[in-house]
Amino acid sequence: MKYRALGKTGIKSSILGFGAMRLPLRSSNPEDVDVMEMRKMIDYAVENGINMFDTALVYHTADRARPGVSEGILGEMLKEYDEVHLSTKMPSWNITSWEYFDKTLDYQLEQLQKDSIELFFVHSIKDSFYGDIKEGGLYEFIDRAKDDGRIEHVGFSTHASYELLEEILNDYKWEFVLTQVNYIDNEINPGLKGLKKLSELNIGTMIMEPLRGGQLAVNQPQPIQDIFKSSKRDFSPVEWAFNYLWDKKEVSCVFSGMSNLNQVKENIRLVEKAEDGMLNDADYDLLEKVKSEYEKMKNIPCTGCNYCMPCPFGVNIPKCFYEYNMDKISNSENASIQYRFQLHEDRKAHNCTKCGKCLMSCPQSIDIPGQLSVVEKHFGD
Ligand code: SF4
Ligand code: SF4
Repeated sequence: MKYRALGKTGIKSSILGFGAMRLPLRSSNPEDVDVMEMRKMIDYAVENGINMFDTALVYHTADRARPGVSEGILGEMLKEYDEVHLSTKMPSWNITSWEYFDKTLDYQLEQLQKDSIELFFVHSIKDSFYGDIKEGGLYEFIDRAKDDGRIEHVGFSTHASYELLEEILNDYKWEFVLTQVNYIDNEINPGLKGLKKLSELNIGTMIMEPLRGGQLAVNQPQPIQDIFKSSKRDFSPVEWAFNYLWDKKEVSCVFSGMSNLNQVKENIRLVEKAEDGMLNDADYDLLEKVKSEYEKMKNIPCTGCNYCMPCPFGVNIPKCFYEYNMDKISNSENASIQYRFQLHEDRKAHNCTKCGKCLMSCPQSIDIPGQLSVVEKHFGD
């Protein structure tokens, strides 16, 4: 394993982190985690040097209005390992009072089986409500919890614009930031410019969605595969995506939401070959070509994070977008068949009433009802 400094925290983080938002499941219920598989994954990860684990209050819930099971499972599985670092997140969109903050923090500590959260994230700060939570006392709440010892180090996660990133950074003494960067998403929200800014301030940089919800890992369309084949490198698609990030010395840790033991093994194997500065100009030119090819395909930038779920009218939003994207880029009949015959009628795009409930929750700022209309039209349902 390889390690890099996490800003000024004094922590040396493994460059591969274990994200607990896509844990192995025994059924389609996100709370039905396969703990036997999970045990093997955690043990293998720790024994092979991964020392950074990340969860959140809302990971693995069947209903976003209540907490998920990820924190509790990770807390239980990591309690025997002293040498690992654990981060969790409190939903920024709910932080409107000290009562909520205080009660939620106690609940999280109980789930994690800790007296103090070593790495505390304010989860997914967005442009649309940052002013409200700031005015509502966010920083006062954090300081109180730091003073009483329940929080050690503080960061935030965001898909915000670069301008908002700067504003948030100016407002508080943050120690680390979690943001989305991959070779497709590198210009906005807040992109490589954001990464550079964080590095200049010596703030630890943690990266999410390195594989864009798996889109960069499997089923890549033929034109993309052809571009990769033209390289002298013998990298797999997953390797290209990780190396793009590990190549940058500004990156402290890349979180991967691993779902089975094989993925853990494979990702750890890739770390061993990774170094900062390992990619050359030809590699970057190739990734730019891949990116522009993807852009030509104009898919919906859904990462499958599930934050928009559940929809009160039953629409399976990420599944609709996934099948649409696959159908658009793969040029095969399979995705269309998946949508038409494997997605229940009640879960399809045409059930969207445009109530707008999901709009605030999408970190990718997707116009969900608008894009569902596109999906509906595309599949003619
Ligand atoms: S806008 Fe459509 S998809 Fe979103 S919550 Fe309402 S019905 Fe569901
Ligand atoms: S639409 Fe947005 S919130 Fe919903 S799964 Fe996709 S990226 Fe996540």
